[in-house]
Amino acid sequence: MDTQGHAARTTWNLLHDWWTMLPKAKRTLAAADAVIRQGRRELDWLGALPAQAAQAVLKTYFQAWKNCWEGRAQAPEFKARFRTRMSIDIPQGRDLHVVRVHRRWGMVDIPELGRVRFCWTKDLPVGRHADKDNKITGARLVKDALGWHIAFRVTTLAPAPGPHPGPEAGIGAGITVPLALSDGETAEHGPWLSKKEEARLLHHEQRAARRKSHRKKGERTSRRLSKTYDRIARIRATAKRRREDWQHKTTTAIADTYGTVVVEALHITNMTKSAKGTVEQPGRQVAQKAGLNRSILGEAWGRTVHLLAYKLARRGGLLAEVSAPGTSQECAQCHTVTPGSRRNQAEFVCNNPACGWEGNADTNAARTVLHRYRTGHALVPAAGRAVVRRASNGVKPATAR
Ligand SMILES: [Zn+2]
Repeated sequence: MDTQGHAARTTWNLLHDWWTMLPKAKRTLAAADAVIRQGRRELDWLGALPAQAAQAVLKTYFQAWKNCWEGRAQAPEFKARFRTRMSIDIPQGRDLHVVRVHRRWGMVDIPELGRVRFCWTKDLPVGRHADKDNKITGARLVKDALGWHIAFRVTTLAPAPGPHPGPEAGIGAGITVPLALSDGETAEHGPWLSKKEEARLLHHEQRAARRKSHRKKGERTSRRLSKTYDRIARIRATAKRRREDWQHKTTTAIADTYGTVVVEALHITNMTKSAKGTVEQPGRQVAQKAGLNRSILGEAWGRTVHLLAYKLARRGGLLAEVSAPGTSQECAQCHTVTPGSRRNQAEFVCNNPACGWEGNADTNAARTVLHRYRTGHALVPAAGRAVVRRASNGVKPATAR
């Protein structure tokens, strides 16, 4: 699988090299298809990747450009050997022959490899559960620090959801709590790693730093050092997996309970970028802002919103976004902004003499978010992505970035 993964990555890189060198008029899907076929004929090791998977690389690459042109993503880049997540596509479901052999295990056919066992974690439409409307249509193999994983692409026929009867709720990306809801509920989580695991992580990190400092310039990374790197990556991947599990459970519970969920539209990429500033205008308090950004990215706010969007849609609910500025300063009771009302990260006390509301600052922000929605300040389209402004002076978007 590693061989196939590397071949897929190299196919991408060759394709990218070819594509960006070519004059614009010659960049067509048909030409790209021909070049991939030729590459597979002439380079033996590229042939390690099954033909259909190579076609899938082309499709993904083309989609990456489309996402860029439509302002959803940055331009595609070369995939570096160590920083890229390896993945292989199996575009056709009928080649997979998925069978459940045990409560916890299934078997699947991987092209060029044969029969492989995998851990059964979700109901899949196979055997008597499969028909023309409910079936597996493909799969993707992805490798992370814990090993190879398989994700199945499935089509299922589900009835259109009726309107969601649940109440409305605002959510703030909290600073003291991960998620604060406007009705005072909060969603919290423990640390992702146990004390023991954290100690082990620190131990390996110190060990890696020590070995790295002994290494001479230009010397290859020793086997021992790369093993330590692997161990660090495994512990971090475990933490990430737990975080994603929590995110899924929390967003499912919210989508089950509430019919309309309102969130702040935070453009995290912009926030991370703006702190640093430019060479001419360096940003102020970069470290503090980076810390804040880290915590937002750490809690993975964008992903939370993404999960809520599709989970609510499936249940007939609605996700709305309102503009974020000032939600943490505005009082949710009297809707005025008074200086110093946000006492600290956790506490909010309204300085308006006629009001004097006090409570959790994150709950306050969530209530303000809901209020903004109710007074008609929802952004359209909800849960959409910010459109990246292009350079207008005739510079190609790819080079402009
Ligand atoms: Zn107030």
